[in-house]
Amino acid sequence: MPLQGTVRRLQMKSLYLTRNYPAQGLLKTNVSLCLVKLFYSDTFELPLPAGHRFPMAKYTRLRNRIEATLVPEGRCELLLPPAATDEQLSLVHTRGYLEAIKTGELTDVEQRRIGFPWSPKMVERSRRSTGASIAAARAAIKDGVAVNLAGGTHHSFADSGQGFCVFNDACVAAKVLQTEGLAKRVMIVDLDVHQGNGTAAITKDDPTVYSFSMHCSKNYPFRKTEGDLDVALPPATEDEYYLAQMRFGLKRAVDGFDPDCVFYLAGADPFVDDRLGLLSLTKAGLQSRDEGVLDFFGRRDVPVAIAMAGGYADEIEDIVDIHFATVQAALQLGGSPN
Ligand SMILES: [Zn+2]
Repeated sequence: MPLQGTVRRLQMKSLYLTRNYPAQGLLKTNVSLCLVKLFYSDTFELPLPAGHRFPMAKYTRLRNRIEATLVPEGRCELLLPPAATDEQLSLVHTRGYLEAIKTGELTDVEQRRIGFPWSPKMVERSRRSTGASIAAARAAIKDGVAVNLAGGTHHSFADSGQGFCVFNDACVAAKVLQTEGLAKRVMIVDLDVHQGNGTAAITKDDPTVYSFSMHCSKNYPFRKTEGDLDVALPPATEDEYYLAQMRFGLKRAVDGFDPDCVFYLAGADPFVDDRLGLLSLTKAGLQSRDEGVLDFFGRRDVPVAIAMAGGYADEIEDIVDIHFATVQAALQLGGSPN
């Protein structure tokens, strides 16, 4: 899609010029400006018992902060995505699993593995979160970058869920893009601190979807599933080593696979104060990570759809800070006019 790519490039360039040189009249193009589209699903409540360890409140706090700061600046728009349909979910998930999730006929073991109590609201929330990744993927193809303010549910397999993951949003969205003819080759760059075992299993025999996961070696899931590229880091890894490994991994990934579109899982859980991660990245390091990924693919003119993925720091505002910085990095994607 060379023409579409050129239009996108021009759009991003216009965005850059307008943001950085608003008073200098540099913008002399007919290409209309695109606000970065951010898709949210937190208004669909997922009821959890008191004291549940999943920090569900982070999503609403993140949206509120974006609404109060970035939206008034005219840099992005918040949008509610449609729910993922059965047809879309069936591109990845088995009929039996879909039925069990829809009807709540999960065994106790299956439900415990997911980690959320079943309710019709849980189903709707999971559909919306996956719908947000589908919407972000379509928007990224058009605009260069777009964001799902949730998602990144990479422990979901074709026939089962685990680790707070019901549907595998990135895999479903990748197959939707392919089905709609919007992309042929999709890469999933998973920088959540946990290995994307569900994603690895789903994409294992699919040469059109490439999975790259960089995670902590000693962390959940304790039995990893081999993906196309796995980089396992030792506990307590700090910024510098992490970023070097990431750059090396990205180059290796695109060496043998030239993607039309990338899903980036920007987990907040490599953060030093995360309860469930074991790495030692600072907020500045995580920001460099986000900018590094977006710059890497921006230079190659590859659209990027971003999902937030995990984040379990004790201070919920720390998680929100990290996710917010990821969104800010997305808004700066047009930063290179070359
Ligand atoms: Zn995680």
